[in-house]
Amino acid sequence: MILLSFDIEEFDVPAVEYGMPFSFEEQMDTSIRGTRTILSVLKNKHIKATFFCTANFAIHAPKIVQQIVAEGHELASHGYYHSSFKNEDYKKSKTELERIGNTKIKGFRMARMMPVNYELMQQAGYTYDSSLNPTFIPGRYNHLTSPKTVFSNPYVTILPSSVTPLVRFPLFWLSFHNIPLKLFKWLSQRTLAKHGYLNIYFHPWEFVSLHDATYGLPFYFKNKSGDKMVQELGSFIDFFKSKDVEFNTISHFLKHRKVLT
Ligand SMILES: [Zn+2]
Repeated sequence: MILLSFDIEEFDVPAVEYGMPFSFEEQMDTSIRGTRTILSVLKNKHIKATFFCTANFAIHAPKIVQQIVAEGHELASHGYYHSSFKNEDYKKSKTELERIGNTKIKGFRMARMMPVNYELMQQAGYTYDSSLNPTFIPGRYNHLTSPKTVFSNPYVTILPSSVTPLVRFPLFWLSFHNIPLKLFKWLSQRTLAKHGYLNIYFHPWEFVSLHDATYGLPFYFKNKSGDKMVQELGSFIDFFKSKDVEFNTISHFLKHRKVLT
């Protein structure tokens, strides 16, 4: 099974990480356009995915969040704001997303895959976390000793982002942009064969062209953004569908996991 997920959030990267004058309206506009594109790709391919959404995004774009739920995708929490986090945001974001989406929120993913508090997460009512990328990303985090596949602690189930079995090459948005699609497919196939599933995440703004200088982003970030991403994600989905691999939500996977293994 392949679990695609999308972190839908106010696009704060140009302002927060690259000091660009990029307003909240522009951040929302970019992410809303990208989310619409993702929804149409998923609809065309007849597959379901999981959307980790900030409460802030949902409050400012409730209709698209409701569309996500109506089209059968899973809604999960990506915190309250993308640029800051307080402990009370586990609960506050969940309450807000459940109100707007009119659905039960089970999963959590911290913005920028920052460290989490599993006990507080459980107290807020979550059953799973997907904030762990079990690899080394220079300047961000080093999780080379963490488990590579799904595991549980006393509080929640943890579904790490997929990495290849041996060298822990991360199969996520940034590598998708910067290695040939053929290689990404091959690495994904090997990892899927070994782990039995893949957990791969993207963001809406990747599906909008980020080549304009007003974004102020480096090449590795904007490479393949926009139409190229739409085309390559579509090709990735077609490739695995042709091999009878199922695409579904994280909750669906966790519920049926015991049967699969
Ligand atoms: Zn994020």
